[in-house]
Amino acid sequence: MTSATLSAQELVSLQRRFFRTGQTKSLPYRIEALKRLRRGIEDYQTRILAALRADLNKSEAEGFHTEIRLVLGELDYTLEHLEEWAAPRVVPTSSQIPDGVSRIHPEPYGVTLVIAPWNYPFQLAFSPLVGAISAGNTAVLKPSELTPNVSKISAQLIAECFPQEFVAAMEGEVETSTELLREKFDYIFFTGSTPVGKVVMRAAAEHLTPTTLELGGKSPSIVHLDADLKKTAQSLVRGKFLNAGQTCVAPDYLLVHEDVREALVQEIKLEIADKHGEDVLSNPDFPHIVNERNFDRLSRFLQDGKALIGGRSVREQLLIEPTLLEGIDWESPVMQEEIFGPILPMMTYTDLDDVLEKIVDRPKPLALYLFTRDQEVQNLVLNTVSFGGGCVNETLLHMSSHELPFGGVGESGMGSYHGRQSFETFSHHKSMLVRGV
Ligand code: NAD
Repeated sequence: MTSATLSAQELVSLQRRFFRTGQTKSLPYRIEALKRLRRGIEDYQTRILAALRADLNKSEAEGFHTEIRLVLGELDYTLEHLEEWAAPRVVPTSSQIPDGVSRIHPEPYGVTLVIAPWNYPFQLAFSPLVGAISAGNTAVLKPSELTPNVSKISAQLIAECFPQEFVAAMEGEVETSTELLREKFDYIFFTGSTPVGKVVMRAAAEHLTPTTLELGGKSPSIVHLDADLKKTAQSLVRGKFLNAGQTCVAPDYLLVHEDVREALVQEIKLEIADKHGEDVLSNPDFPHIVNERNFDRLSRFLQDGKALIGGRSVREQLLIEPTLLEGIDWESPVMQEEIFGPILPMMTYTDLDDVLEKIVDRPKPLALYLFTRDQEVQNLVLNTVSFGGGCVNETLLHMSSHELPFGGVGESGMGSYHGRQSFETFSHHKSMLVRGV
């Protein structure tokens, strides 16, 4: 029987019964499960890449590097360190309890739910799953219905690797999420938009279920006076137009010092032509917008300001050119919501303090990118603005490190994962004081 034939309620109680057998708590069981998943992903690689091409027109190279490779990396890193992470940790005990030993025991929560979005539909489903399994939980994965080919292949891969009482995928539309969220899970890991994050948290509150929310928002990029403009343009173009801008940590908008605006625009133009071709609309490997609703939403932004670069689109192919907009201010429609497409609005500044005040007035961003070699400016920005994480003189790369916990703050989310943090996120830390030893 596949998970599709079970209701959410049946699946959760099946997994709960299995969790109570204690099998998932055994370290060899978890290690074997992670190895099985690794082999499964390798076996399915061609099919996963084909599904990413069908759903988003991701090239094989982009699909491999931004989805499969990251999950395999998480698996390898976890397999290398799991024994150490899972071991109880002895911590000092007060001298007033001389016969006492204090230990922190990581233990699995139990039955977990992972809800995934469509923009990196493989990576953002399977990376959290690595954390859930490594910590000894069972897991139900709800892939995004907006990328149906990846959803289907993910469900097949999971069914081939695991019995459904341990790990199962439940495909479906919003109703499926709603049905799942009615159940009592022991942990919920959600990646998606801020409005749906609120729905998830409300549902979790009913059962007091702890939750990680990996959400989105408007991530600023600030290019200061002294930035290396060529490298800055390379990094901005890579970060913004990867997956046609449908990346949660993509630079959402650009703030550039007035004095370097002209030169930066020229560098960005050269870089787009170099990386994506002179005519991006006929580049067979440029990803398309996920669906017509998002295409239409983005097309309205193309009416904002003036396109200095790009600005064309083809609805039949859901394609939008990499676009740099000027003539934008903080009140423009494009500045009122996360863009999530290949459109980069640019505003100039002369006083950095003014800009920082504007950013701080708004919801805390998921990421912030700063381009400057000036240490004082770096300190000022870091100490003034709260955001999930980010880079100086780079974009996106903070999220590819196993050593850097990845997550948002405020409206861009709560909790974090990647590397050891994934294991910690999916573990309860049971504090024990043992006397008489
Ligand atoms: P979404 O919130 O629309 O959907 C995410 C998941 O939630 C899907 O599986 C969907 O089926 C489900 N869902 C949708 N509506 C629901 C509802 N009313 N009740 C219950 N479940 C529901 O997000 P999306 O459009 O798939 O993804 C885009 C958003 O995700 C952007 O805001 C982006 O910034 C954010 N995102 C964040 C990260 C991160 O790591 N922080 C990563 C990728 C995407």
